[in-house]
Amino acid sequence: MELSKFSVGNEGREVFWNAENFEGLLFAFTAVAMAIFAYGIYRRWQMWTAIGKPEVRNDQIKERIKLLLKNGLFQIKTFRDIYPGIMHGLILFGFIGLLFGAAFDATEFHVGEPYGFPFLIGKFYLIFSFLMEVFGLFVLAGVFMALDRRYITKPERLGYKGEPDNTPDDAIVLLLLGGIILTGFVIEALRIHVTNPPWEVWSFAGYTLAKAFAGVDNNTARILHKVMWWTHTFMALGFIAYIPYSRLVHMITTPANHFMASLKPVGNIEPIRDFETAESFGAGQLEDFTWKQVFDSDACTRCGRCQDGCPAYLSGKALSPKKVVQDLKTYWLERAPMIAAAKKAAGKAAEGTAPEMPAATKAMVGEVIDLHELWACTNCMYCMEHCSSSIEHVPKIVNMRQYKVLTEADFAPELQLTYRNMENNSNPWGVGSHLRADWAKELGVKTLAEDPNVEYLFYVGCSGSFDERGKKVSMAFAKILQTAGVSFGILGTEEGCCGDSAMRGGNEYLSQTLMQTNIEVMNGYGVKKIICTCPHGYNTLKKDYPHFGGNYEVYHHTEIIANLIAAGKISLKKPVDGMFTYHDSCFLGRYNNIYDQPRKILAAIPGMKLAEMDRKLDKSFCCGAGGARMWMEEHDGERINNMRTDQAIAVNATNIAVACPFCLTMLTDGIKAREKEEKMASLDIAEVVWRAMGLEEEKPSADVCAPTE
Ligand code: SF4
Ligand code: SF4
Repeated sequence: MELSKFSVGNEGREVFWNAENFEGLLFAFTAVAMAIFAYGIYRRWQMWTAIGKPEVRNDQIKERIKLLLKNGLFQIKTFRDIYPGIMHGLILFGFIGLLFGAAFDATEFHVGEPYGFPFLIGKFYLIFSFLMEVFGLFVLAGVFMALDRRYITKPERLGYKGEPDNTPDDAIVLLLLGGIILTGFVIEALRIHVTNPPWEVWSFAGYTLAKAFAGVDNNTARILHKVMWWTHTFMALGFIAYIPYSRLVHMITTPANHFMASLKPVGNIEPIRDFETAESFGAGQLEDFTWKQVFDSDACTRCGRCQDGCPAYLSGKALSPKKVVQDLKTYWLERAPMIAAAKKAAGKAAEGTAPEMPAATKAMVGEVIDLHELWACTNCMYCMEHCSSSIEHVPKIVNMRQYKVLTEADFAPELQLTYRNMENNSNPWGVGSHLRADWAKELGVKTLAEDPNVEYLFYVGCSGSFDERGKKVSMAFAKILQTAGVSFGILGTEEGCCGDSAMRGGNEYLSQTLMQTNIEVMNGYGVKKIICTCPHGYNTLKKDYPHFGGNYEVYHHTEIIANLIAAGKISLKKPVDGMFTYHDSCFLGRYNNIYDQPRKILAAIPGMKLAEMDRKLDKSFCCGAGGARMWMEEHDGERINNMRTDQAIAVNATNIAVACPFCLTMLTDGIKAREKEEKMASLDIAEVVWRAMGLEEEKPSADVCAPTE
């Protein structure tokens, strides 16, 4: 019905209709509910502040408020996954709308009416009534969608290894929410049934439901209304009281976690600074984390977004980022009250008494978090990129690895060998470091020792220097730079391992040693701009080296090549054959937001046919080599690189273009494992470009041969 068709007058409703005498009781029950809520928050606060080292997360307030609005209020991260995003959005926005409605109602009742300026009347009341119905239906629809997902559709990510991880709490929360709305509609319908004002057609849900009570006499309706009114009231108050003791606590912790999200570069691992004095390194117990790292787990909603694209989980390993967070939370729930009580007791004792901490009942690393889980992580950053609560999984995993490596010296033998090789020859294979620049001998590439006045340092990295495939990429890229007339040089035998694998594999001491050695050399030559072909080197030089005085402009070779093409410095004239697909490297894409440049380069190549894999861009599937996994055996489940190769095969690719030497190795191995060497190849973008420039010698090497069908 159109608003204009009403003779709008004093439409409005009595707030305590049929419940006039209950006002006092309602306030008493509300006070009880609020007290239970406040006590719960107080207890939770004690637990949040009981454990963890200091960490500043209240700086840069403007940035933090933006994050709070973006992800806490407008739910941008949640909406990235459309169906669950809508589900959550309906509940949240419906709920917020109803809260505002309740506030309006209360203001009208306690201020507007008594002081002679009622405002919930006339047109405003009609619109208000209409909106309240819409918000109520929003919540109801969201609750039904959630019930369907949890108990009927049961997507894998709402469980672990095929078993749903529902708890009674999930059902209680959904039933409470649904119950509050349904009883709200019923009491509205009963009121409309008895009072029957024509304008209540604007309360369309209650108005329609009122027809169901057509045969009910007014007295019975009034009694029913009272019963439903109290049911509704107890559910709503129970909901408030339940918040701090249930998953509903995420209404507080998740927005807080968005506000306190890391503002450091993506993937940042805080360096250990106290090697000289500390007795233990990394995180062996909850107390070794910062308070924010501990708080994180209380913001987890068990939505499973992180698990949904975790290569370790999807390939059948024990690791699930959701499970890691939940296991840490369970352990925290067990341990935090004991520690909080110990601190309180010490506080009551004489000043200066150190609290006697309760002994840990479990080893956090090894029992709470299984070692298979810990070492399965590729640091691919999928979990952190997609977590709807801004939880930071990767630094926790690296900190626990640091504990195993540096404090307990207990880690995989193959990683021990890798670290020894890095220590002795500054590369993971242990090849003599004097051979590092041999790939460049025939190209006439100068070292900085020969000419320090070049514009760019080409930091080649270990793969580009020693691995046979990697060396071909280095050569292709160096030839591109030479052809384009770019001024560059290399460090030659003065270059060392970048330190990324050592750092992400928990050997922070070794990684710092490697970084500092490189920084000394680079700073000695006054290096300002660096190009890397390896995203691991690129990421660590750009983000970790500044921690130790290495401040450079760092570029990835795809950025440089894309610029050279755009500037007309290189021309691509020779068409390529076959179907290409591009595999996004995690350390290039999710870590550094470089998605466009590689695609632009490929698009500029004549004859390029490009098919995107389903898992692409920020949802790309890791090759399996990050986080030092490159140097470790993969014992459990399916091999991640083979799964990624299957995804390329699924789009009929004959060439997998990559921009990372680790990905190149992993996907080349995947192609071999799938026995597709005759039909498929993996190529670095530099190799594809060099070929398309048409300057390549006519005899391509067998293993990089672009196949034709
Ligand atoms: S970083 Fe990647 S592999 Fe590690 S837990 Fe997160 S999603 Fe899984
Ligand atoms: S860690 Fe984040 S993405 Fe994973 S289940 Fe918890 S809230 Fe969801």
